[in-house]
Amino acid sequence: MTASARGPEPSDPRRALPSVGLLLDSPEIAPLLARAPRALVTEAIRTVVDAARIDPSAAPTDNDAWAQAIDAQLAKRERPSLRPVINATGVVLHTNLGRAPLAAAALQAILDTASVACNLEYDIEQGERGSRYVHAVSLLRELTGADDAIVVNNCASALVLALNSLCAGREAIVSRGELIEIGGSFRVPDIMAKSGATLVEVGTTNRTHLADYDDVIGESTGAIVKVHRSNFELRGFVAEADVSELSSLARTHALPLLFDFGSGLLLPLDEFGLHGEPTARDAVRNGATVVLMSGDKLLGGPQAGIILGDAKAIAACRKNPLARAVRVDKLTLAALEATLALYRDPSRAMRHIPTLAMLTSPIATVRMRAEQVRERLYVGGLPCDVVETEASVGGGAFPTARIPSFAVALSGQADEIERRLRVGTHAVIGRIGNGRLMLDLRSVPEAYDDQLVRAVMASLSSPA
Ligand SMILES: *Cc1c(COP(=O)(O)O)cnc(C)c1O
Repeated sequence: MTASARGPEPSDPRRALPSVGLLLDSPEIAPLLARAPRALVTEAIRTVVDAARIDPSAAPTDNDAWAQAIDAQLAKRERPSLRPVINATGVVLHTNLGRAPLAAAALQAILDTASVACNLEYDIEQGERGSRYVHAVSLLRELTGADDAIVVNNCASALVLALNSLCAGREAIVSRGELIEIGGSFRVPDIMAKSGATLVEVGTTNRTHLADYDDVIGESTGAIVKVHRSNFELRGFVAEADVSELSSLARTHALPLLFDFGSGLLLPLDEFGLHGEPTARDAVRNGATVVLMSGDKLLGGPQAGIILGDAKAIAACRKNPLARAVRVDKLTLAALEATLALYRDPSRAMRHIPTLAMLTSPIATVRMRAEQVRERLYVGGLPCDVVETEASVGGGAFPTARIPSFAVALSGQADEIERRLRVGTHAVIGRIGNGRLMLDLRSVPEAYDDQLVRAVMASLSSPA
């Protein structure tokens, strides 16, 4: 970084580049070495020097510029792969963005239970080995009316475990209208096939009648499976057998009925304009032998698969060796139990579970927040407007529902703004609409408005 580092032939700009060793020993780099391991700093320096060698015209010109470029490169390496982003897409439960953010009580429960040892598989009353499958069960029974429950890794594994426990080596009957794909790698027929049950399809894509199921029930039938169409709606000339009808049919033939309803909705949201998803209590009441749902969709908790059902069916799941392969961990159980506890007081659940708070927030509140964000960005030198939008639930629930919302629309080249917000120090994910980058406030937890403003300012005020 000094004149002595420069080579003898100034005509070749590469000669002028300082060596890695020289940079490493320079005073400007000392603070970086105090913060990060030497090997990591060395790698960062090498990357910056290599880049300067490839494009000498863009090489740093003085010591401070070198230090700055190396600092930025180091920060990139120090940054965790998994990190927080602000979801301003308007899709409240965004599977790519981690679905439900957790309630403060759930985060506290993780901290309390996971910072020290806990009674994960220890019966404190008896002073002996216990089961991890007892946790959260009494709350699930209380909140859904189910006899018993087991919590596993996610809803897909819940489906595999339930089918394998109740129907392995036998036929599982399912409607062709319900052989659905839930996203990326989750196709109901593929998952079912892995469970050891043989899929028997009945009906047609648009219409399946109770008689279609009845017609194929025979010696080798092991179960009837009903899958809620959680991410699309079938309209027009359609027919399906509902859970109550199927449960009578199943009972007549002494077969289990498995109902995969997905969302994990525990409280009706009709008064907030969201209609058509069953609640877990409805699903249990309608007579399915087991009801399957996710923990991180409308329930608003951690990723988990919950099987609710009668004692015999749940016992079969619990003692299936496959349960070990899909078992839930203590962090999840801590967060799930704390989230469920909030539901004992529904108004508390609505306020403190971020997913429910976002979905049910009055439109006037969302508008006011958008206006406050706009004002702060505008004052900060970023021209923008507040625009009316439609947000959605996402995460495979209320697929066609449009929730009134407001967004801040930034002026300027939308693609470029989108990119800069995304790759900024604190990533903000918006969506492009009408040629502008929109930040929809419906999917941003209210407590994050300030961070949203600061992240946008930081990303758009600094040079690209
Ligand atoms: C989302 C969904 C699943 C998958 O749940 P995961 O918890 O992501 O495994 C399964 N079935 C239905 C009906 C769903 O909506």
